[in-house]
Amino acid sequence: MSGEAFVATGRCLCGAVSFGLRDKLPAVGFCHCSLCRRVSGTGSNAVLNVRRERFEWLSGEDNVQVYATPSGWKSLFCRTCGSPAPHILRDGRRVLVPAGMLDGDCDLPISGHIFVGSKARWEVIADDAPQFETWPPAAG
Ligand SMILES: [Zn+2]
Ligand SMILES: [Zn+2]
Repeated sequence: MSGEAFVATGRCLCGAVSFGLRDKLPAVGFCHCSLCRRVSGTGSNAVLNVRRERFEWLSGEDNVQVYATPSGWKSLFCRTCGSPAPHILRDGRRVLVPAGMLDGDCDLPISGHIFVGSKARWEVIADDAPQFETWPPAAG
């Protein structure tokens, strides 16, 4: 086992950026918006929305580059290899972790799909998780 206290670990392609996750893995959510499509180069971004205290940098926090669009939308990536990188949200309480960075073959449930209204026509969603045209309805 790598990282005794972690339920999962993950890293970028070159290994400079790595992290561990504690306690419990959340479901994976997919965003199909045009920004996620461009930045991922494929049909959607797959991310785990993790509580900050469950996330720990193992290396490379200072190797993460941020690109922000004029509207403030941010893409974070490893400045060495260009892989997407974990994104600590502005309120500091949650982290968006790219699901594809995880080591091994994690058995993750799927929470749902957002911005399905702008997904590419060539992308087929093959699971039966909830789909939302844009954001899901506010969860109160
Ligand atoms: Zn890298
Ligand atoms: Zn998106």
